[in-house]
Amino acid sequence: MNYFLSEQELDIRNLFTEYVNKRIIPLRKELDEKHEFPHEIFQEMARQDFFRIMVPEAYGGLGDSSMHLTLGIEELSRGDAGISVSFAVDAIATKGIILYGNDDQKQKFLPAIADGKMYTAFAITEPGAGSDAGAIKTKAVKKGNKYVLDGVKQFITNGENAGIVMVIAVTDPEKGYKGHTAFLVEKGTPGFTPGKKEDKMGIRSSVTNELLFDNCEVPEENIVGAPGQGFYIALGLLDRSRVGIGAQAVGIAQGALDEAINYSGTREQFGKPINSFQAIQHMLADMATQTEAARALVYHASRVVDAGGKDMTKISAMAKLFATDTAMKVTTDAVQVFGGYGYMKEYPVEKMMRDAKVTQIYEGTNQVQRNVIAAKLIKKT
Ligand SMILES: Cc1cc2nc3c(=O)[nH]c(=O)nc-3n(C[C@H](O)[C@H](O)[C@H](O)COP(=O)(O)OP(=O)(O)OC[C@H]3O[C@@H](n4cnc5c(N)ncnc54)[C@H](O)[C@@H]3O)c2cc1C
Repeated sequence: MNYFLSEQELDIRNLFTEYVNKRIIPLRKELDEKHEFPHEIFQEMARQDFFRIMVPEAYGGLGDSSMHLTLGIEELSRGDAGISVSFAVDAIATKGIILYGNDDQKQKFLPAIADGKMYTAFAITEPGAGSDAGAIKTKAVKKGNKYVLDGVKQFITNGENAGIVMVIAVTDPEKGYKGHTAFLVEKGTPGFTPGKKEDKMGIRSSVTNELLFDNCEVPEENIVGAPGQGFYIALGLLDRSRVGIGAQAVGIAQGALDEAINYSGTREQFGKPINSFQAIQHMLADMATQTEAARALVYHASRVVDAGGKDMTKISAMAKLFATDTAMKVTTDAVQVFGGYGYMKEYPVEKMMRDAKVTQIYEGTNQVQRNVIAAKLIKKT
């Protein structure tokens, strides 16, 4: 389908496509098995200027367009969704600094992020507060010109690698979610340590950590926005980053579709390629149609984000919901097209199916996305 991408958008997509085909696809099985963050690959990506697409030009980037991010994340995900989630999450705290940070914070952190010298993480989830993000307990108590953070964050992507983590903590417990504040906590700050590294079903080349805050003193100037804005900052960022998870899902689905098309042309049963059976043809047709529909919705959502459209919350939730359900369906069907071989680790589609699952869970489960969409629909009528 022609999405009428600009020259710059096509160039960015091609840059990612070539790198993914050359470097990531040949390595993805090993990355999945190793279950380690691939530092070398990320430094290669930095040399390819990939991280510049999340940073404004004034700070050494190429502009922070949602459409550019979508194209990059989609391509990375076609190769390996673990790499793409680490990249996509890096863009969340970065966007937080761009949208809500002050000049000093932008000067201090954005050039290093653009250079790929500093990765970031975004931490809101806690053991007792997942979908109900307003129920966080990590507290930040003011002490002179510092805040003292105590608590535990759970399932934090890039947790142990991030140079800075945007942490949402409670500064005024009386005010509920209106008493939450966003802090930038730098790696190495005394009292801040990455905890357990999770052993995951999929996206195994990404790292997911517990983060522990124990009497961790953070300077007041590391507050992002103003005290009390943390919950709103988190929602504003999720409105944008959910499009990225939609893009991740489209990339995973496209990867699985490509594999299924290729395999169905080579595997023979009953004396002919399995793609001569109408049952297989129809499965491929549905997979392709669903993937294209997901892509159209995700690209549209990116355009809405870039235009600052007021429908951003609803459209990005729709894009995330539809694309991630599509990725789950398409990857499951890809395993079916491969038959028993699809179930084996020798072929890439079982990994894609494992990777797809988490896209229905993080950045708000798909049940939560439906709640968000329905709330907007009901409010309008
Ligand atoms: C690999 C991975 C990486 C992650 N990375 C990050 C990160 O970088 N930063 C971060 O802050 N968080 C991160 N998360 C956390 C993620 O966003 C949460 O797991 C997610 O929001 C769901 O929360 P939960 O796991 O506590 O599930 P729960 O909230 O306990 O949900 C359990 C079930 O109940 C359903 N449910 C809950 N409430 C409702 C409701 N109101 N209506 C209908 N159904 C409901 C859910 O849909 C789900 O099916 C990550 C998670 C994973 C798995």
